[in-house]
Amino acid sequence: MRTLFAVVFLLLSLPLGSLAALYTVTKVDERLYAAIVDPDGPVASNAFIVVMPTSVLVAGAHFTPAASAEITRIIAGITPLPLRYVVLTHHHQGKGIAGFGFPPTVEIILSAESFAKIREEKQPLSNRLIAFEKVMTLSGGKQTILLMQMDQGHSRGNLAVYLPDQAVLFTSDLMFNDEAGSMTDGSPRGWVQDLLQLEKMVVTKVVPGRGNVTGSKGIRRFRLFLQDFFTEVLSHLERGESAAETVARFGLPPEKMPPHFFRVRQENIEWAWRELREQR
Ligand SMILES: [Zn+2]
Repeated sequence: MRTLFAVVFLLLSLPLGSLAALYTVTKVDERLYAAIVDPDGPVASNAFIVVMPTSVLVAGAHFTPAASAEITRIIAGITPLPLRYVVLTHHHQGKGIAGFGFPPTVEIILSAESFAKIREEKQPLSNRLIAFEKVMTLSGGKQTILLMQMDQGHSRGNLAVYLPDQAVLFTSDLMFNDEAGSMTDGSPRGWVQDLLQLEKMVVTKVVPGRGNVTGSKGIRRFRLFLQDFFTEVLSHLERGESAAETVARFGLPPEKMPPHFFRVRQENIEWAWRELREQR
């Protein structure tokens, strides 16, 4: 009996994502799940799943067809309710597909700025797009979902998703928790402003773009890292160093850097060097 109980307990405690290769699923709150990407895997960014009264909403970015298929399978393992909305938190122009692989019945909600980028790329779209400016509220049953367009931080038109009832925030790539991520498209100043704004919000849990679920402290930790990172790049710029010289001599100590930063080190430093030179 005790063995049977132990086996049942073990099965129940296995992460849903153990069946899947790209994401590990964590329950964030009742009806809320985070799909956390494997830091060594091919998918760039975490997704956030909200089981609403009659359908399911997924928020995230960098959806490849394989990632979309896996998200769809994960949802089927959580609930029989259909996936109805994908909130595309941002889109990096010219860097791959926007949100394909989801069935055409799924509607994609995005900021007007992301919509404009996708339109410009003339991507073939099989999903209906719903674009908005500034804030969009989805409300039904006991679930309110706020989609907030932030300053240009990680990318122009990037969104944060906030659930006031549970005080849960999904930052997408505006924040990486104790993990490195690509920083090649946004604005250093706007990014710090966004994080300061998100730090002021009442939150119990924060789902980041990469890394595990955290709280407000995780946002602050990432903002302090960004400020150190930009200050270091700026000091090289002020000495008149080129982007290549800055990459070669970049000297922030390893304990200040998130894990796996070496993978994105060169492109991130080059982006910060270009942006900070523009902003000076
Ligand atoms: Zn991104």
